[in-house]
Amino acid sequence: MNHFELKGGELACEDVALSTIAAAVGTPVYVYSSATLVRHFTVLRDALTGAGLKDPLIAFAVKANPNVAVLRTLAQAGAGADVVSEGEIRRALAAGVPPERIVFSGVGKSAGEIEFALKAGVAEINLESEPELDLVSAIGQRLGKRAAVAIRVNPDVEAGGHAKISTGKAENKFGVSLAEAERLYAKASNLPGAPPVGVACHIGSQITDLAPMEAAFAKMRALVERLRGEGLSVERLDLGGGLGAPYFNAPTPPDPADYAAMIARTMKGLGDIQFAFEPGRMIAANAGVLVSRVQHIHERPEGRKFLVLDAAMNDLLRPAMYDAYHDIRPVNPRPSDEKGGEPVVYDVVGPICETGDTFTRDRALPPLKAGDLVAFMTAGAYGAAMSSEYNSRLLVPEVLVKGDQYAVIRPRPTYDDMLAREANAPWLS
Ligand SMILES: *Cc1c(COP(=O)(O)O)cnc(C)c1O
Repeated sequence: MNHFELKGGELACEDVALSTIAAAVGTPVYVYSSATLVRHFTVLRDALTGAGLKDPLIAFAVKANPNVAVLRTLAQAGAGADVVSEGEIRRALAAGVPPERIVFSGVGKSAGEIEFALKAGVAEINLESEPELDLVSAIGQRLGKRAAVAIRVNPDVEAGGHAKISTGKAENKFGVSLAEAERLYAKASNLPGAPPVGVACHIGSQITDLAPMEAAFAKMRALVERLRGEGLSVERLDLGGGLGAPYFNAPTPPDPADYAAMIARTMKGLGDIQFAFEPGRMIAANAGVLVSRVQHIHERPEGRKFLVLDAAMNDLLRPAMYDAYHDIRPVNPRPSDEKGGEPVVYDVVGPICETGDTFTRDRALPPLKAGDLVAFMTAGAYGAAMSSEYNSRLLVPEVLVKGDQYAVIRPRPTYDDMLAREANAPWLS
């Protein structure tokens, strides 16, 4: 469920018409709903606690939407943060996420980043390899800080979804095997600077079938039991993120209640353990849209119609990168559209000079004209987060709505701002 609905005949985010924001801020622009962000977080939390998992740590995957105002909205609702870089730790701290709710993941953490995380006092560092364990322990010992670590396991299951976001097979770069995890856990418990507190897994993203998750979680449970059987203490089991979001053309993602029930069933009788989760997409995707204006409609003699927008692949990379599907809706549908006015088949493209800058081909949409606004739905995760200034297009702005209020939470830079970030080489003057 989300808070983007027709109000008075036009698409609104909560109680603010998207056309109002487009007029004030310009297009393209990302618009997020506070109510949807909070709702998705609380639905997940209530499902987990309702299934009997007590006090779960729900750490929002910052990479899905790193805007500090978005993070603050979630932090105030009780969310922690799953971070993958020093930059993300700084964002989480700036947003008021308490360090004891920050989980530091990632395949290639640098010594500087590990030191920063230890000084910040993050709850847990998820380790992906033995060299990383040695590094964390050495830095912990040098700083006199004991970093609580979890070993990230690659449970070797096929999660489905797009190959670029599937992470749980042995051939992927993430985590260590179950056997290796057992060895590293025992090793960590004997190291001075890296006491192990748990094990972690994250098998991929946009998962719409619970079966591979259940298979992975059963392996994780067995691992916890083996570790405990060796006399090691395991306090936390981090089950990662990965629940899918509804993109309209894809299978419906699992209901959080079914996800929670599956976990409760898989973990029944495991005893005292805190569960941690790292959801990104399922919280943020449906909480954001990208609003864009139709520049013109370019009709080819052979009949193909190109809907040329002012948004491009630098603003929303998912279609070019992952062949992702986004529902596209007119912001101000004409009365005939709602009664089923004859749809027109468009190729929807941006202005960038490469064929990759195509959002979708052969999409049937209500008839549109130059100047009309459209919204890419389900764009709140991995949307603005992956935006760039490719083609020297100004970085896309972001707006947060709450009820009938809105605020620009990342302004569009000016061209002077863009040029001022670069410096001349002395020999060129
Ligand atoms: C990307 C990522 C997540 C979030 O994945 P979603 O599919 O957005 O829920 C969680 N944990 C780790 C380690 C990740 O890399």
